[in-house]
Amino acid sequence: MTHEYDDTNIFARILRGEIPNDTVAETDHTLAFNDITPQAPVHVLVIPKGKYVTYDDFHAKASDAEIVDFHRTCARICAERGIVADGYRAISNAGRNAVQEVPHFHQHLIGGRSLGRMLAPAG
Ligand code: AMP
Repeated sequence: MTHEYDDTNIFARILRGEIPNDTVAETDHTLAFNDITPQAPVHVLVIPKGKYVTYDDFHAKASDAEIVDFHRTCARICAERGIVADGYRAISNAGRNAVQEVPHFHQHLIGGRSLGRMLAPAG
């Protein structure tokens, strides 16, 4: 996926306050909100406020402060939402092969039920 940022993507619109979101946490650099189509009892999306398209784009270009804040916020949400003890999945889809739908880097934090294996066996 190209790292050219599309300002019309839905998370950019959320960050500009043009459409509502169900906020879970907010810091100077990071916003977390509940996924609109949750796939488990806990399904939070964590996004940087900066304009990064994918996981690799964010970690290559963001400042140390943004990166630390992002990951500390993810950890805090896992603890606060009570998914640490039984386990959870942290996923970031990037590009075509991963079927990334929204081209603003985001991490899914999913838990609250057994999630099965990450990928179906090939074949
Ligand atoms: P991905 O396929 O990794 O790009 O995931 C995009 C996610 O964004 C999906 O799980 C959607 O349900 C979620 N999503 C799309 N629009 C919204 C929205 N307005 N508020 C919250 N989550 C959304």
